[in-house]
Amino acid sequence: MGRILRTVTDKPADDLKPHFRSDVTVELIKHTASDADVLFAARVSTAGEQSLEELQKDPERSKGLINYLMRDRHGSPFEHNSMTFFVSAPIFVFREFMRHRVGWSYNEESGRYRELEPVFYVPGEDRKLVQQGRPGKYEFVQGTPEQHRTVTAAMEESYRQSYAAYQEMLAAGVAREVARATLPVGLFSSMYATCNARSLMHFLGLRTQHELAKVPSFPQREIEMVAEKMEAEWAKLMPLTHAAYNTNGRVAP
Ligand SMILES: Cc1cc2nc3c(=O)[nH]c(=O)nc-3n(C[C@H](O)[C@H](O)[C@H](O)COP(=O)(O)OP(=O)(O)OC[C@H]3O[C@@H](n4cnc5c(N)ncnc54)[C@H](O)[C@@H]3O)c2cc1C
Repeated sequence: MGRILRTVTDKPADDLKPHFRSDVTVELIKHTASDADVLFAARVSTAGEQSLEELQKDPERSKGLINYLMRDRHGSPFEHNSMTFFVSAPIFVFREFMRHRVGWSYNEESGRYRELEPVFYVPGEDRKLVQQGRPGKYEFVQGTPEQHRTVTAAMEESYRQSYAAYQEMLAAGVAREVARATLPVGLFSSMYATCNARSLMHFLGLRTQHELAKVPSFPQREIEMVAEKMEAEWAKLMPLTHAAYNTNGRVAP
């Protein structure tokens, strides 16, 4: 508190003021992903090479085959596709995200090569704040308005202080890679994340809470917000695969 914000850049002062966000950004940047890709891969084992037109001739049969592959966990036909997402979310979400190693590629913005923007996460009013119960068996419940005010004030103050310290070090000629150590995990980062339907399904099974899940998971809400947006994009590209995933208990094949 009370630090003087000196900058090394010629950015307008407004660009250096912390911005606070309660949401995340997920954009589908590019894709080659359709239900036909699953059929194409699966039918080579029984019918040899087929054109996409042939594959799509009988929609009921296509639906049945995709459902069978999902149910019996024949997973590899779901790998012949690709989706690249742009994600902007707090660093603590990225720490969780990058634990997903198989079928995922990541490139994240660098705190060494660029000055980090002052965008920070503050939970929205609908974010449940209070944990009740013991580890392994707990639930989250709504916070009181007073708790929300405390969280917002404490986080905003802490973010302002740490970003001012970051700017102070940059102004003193300290390298970005050293100065960034003062920034908190509530800072937003951005990345491209590329996956296929199979790796996405595994991720969604762990990072969403869903009534149709045969194996329930209890992810942190913020990574779930990212996962829900990814799922919405994927469902548009591969509706039959998405439906079969839900029908079969949201277990990745
Ligand atoms: C609710 C929740 C809470 C969590 N809490 C913690 C925590 O407190 N601390 C913590 O460190 N992590 C935690 N994690 C992360 C978790 O342990 C996994 O690292 C993460 O969910 C990625 O899952 P994964 O390894 O299955 O995915 P991927 O890395 O994508 O792997 C996919 C699959 O490939 C196989 N596989 C991958 N690598 C190997 C390997 N080396 N050996 C054998 N098989 C392999 C496995 O079958 C695996 O399921 C948590 C995850 C969730 C969802």
